[in-house]
Amino acid sequence: MDAPLTLNGWLPQAETVTVLTGAGISTDSGIPDFRGPQGVWTKDPAAAALSSIDSYLADPEVRRRSWRARLDHPGWAAEPNRGHAALVELERAGRLRAIITQNIDGLHQSAGSSPSAVIEIHGTMRDAICLSCGLRTPMPEVLARVGAGEEDPPCVSCGGIQKSATISFGQALDPDVLAAAIAAARSCDLFLAVGTSLTVQPAAGLCLEAVEHGARLVIINAQPTPYDRVADAVLRTPIGEALPRLVSRVCEKTGGGAR
Ligand SMILES: [Zn+2]
Repeated sequence: MDAPLTLNGWLPQAETVTVLTGAGISTDSGIPDFRGPQGVWTKDPAAAALSSIDSYLADPEVRRRSWRARLDHPGWAAEPNRGHAALVELERAGRLRAIITQNIDGLHQSAGSSPSAVIEIHGTMRDAICLSCGLRTPMPEVLARVGAGEEDPPCVSCGGIQKSATISFGQALDPDVLAAAIAAARSCDLFLAVGTSLTVQPAAGLCLEAVEHGARLVIINAQPTPYDRVADAVLRTPIGEALPRLVSRVCEKTGGGAR
């Protein structure tokens, strides 16, 4: 057992929980972490540079390589895990305000979380978007063209360059999505940061938004984060164990009303 969880009597009193998830919740589903100690970008910074929007627009070879990488992405075969399932339970118990995720894999929705409850601040790999006219197409339709031999399939409407509907390096976040994330951080009484190094803005700053608006902060992450010192509890146990246990602790109280 994690000692902090048994001590924290306030956990079952959390009525409105906002959860921030990062790559760590999806590694159990076989999706590699990009920024962790063993991360793809940590070990190969050049790979990070290649995923900038400028090189994507300027270099057809970068686009061809990107389409092949999308076709082979482990996310297509991935299944949600116990961590994702625990957050579905939290929603069914009526305690979830929102899931803000840095992940693009769509596994929260696959697990059964309501699409309306999931705020994807870095976008989704499950759609393609035209960078000229903004047309959105389900990614499998575009990948079928790649599989059939089109190395860099143009937009069917305007002929423009397409990419996955994700935020690349050098690309601004969607302001409406960001506003929804900030609102969810400010209007919870418990903010759970799960599987994120909390080193990338704006995700990291959302922790402070929550704390400054009166929420308790619990961090579940294998490595230390810059926000551990402001957290009410920090758990280092694997997410697949820690998150289901924490959710069942939060959901202990039935009936509502009393504080
Ligand atoms: Zn277009």
